[in-house]
Amino acid sequence: MSDDGKVIELGSWREAHQSPIRTSGYQAQCRHTRFLVDPKLRTVECTHCGATVDPVDAMLTVGNDWERYAGWVAHAKSERTRLEKLVLELKAEEKRVKSRLRRAQRRLDDVGGWKLLE
Ligand SMILES: [Zn+2]
Repeated sequence: MSDDGKVIELGSWREAHQSPIRTSGYQAQCRHTRFLVDPKLRTVECTHCGATVDPVDAMLTVGNDWERYAGWVAHAKSERTRLEKLVLELKAEEKRVKSRLRRAQRRLDDVGGWKLLE
């Protein structure tokens, strides 16, 4: 709906609000994830395909990437903590198993000659 409350055709609305930045077919397929910023000209260019990118779109892409990266880092930290705890539990279990094997070996030595450990 337009500002004056009239219903407008969606195609003409899209045309009127379409980004002034034009891209080639290859550039249209590019996701534009890496940018080269020219602070003097105040332009942003995709380093992959060379397309001129709207600065707000670039900022949103970088912001979304950063949020995703922060999520991965938080997950990796919690996974590291979980795995460190698991390693400590496994080392304690290894100690208990070796101790049980040594006791069993001593009992077998007493009975006569069987070898569990080298
Ligand atoms: Zn691109």
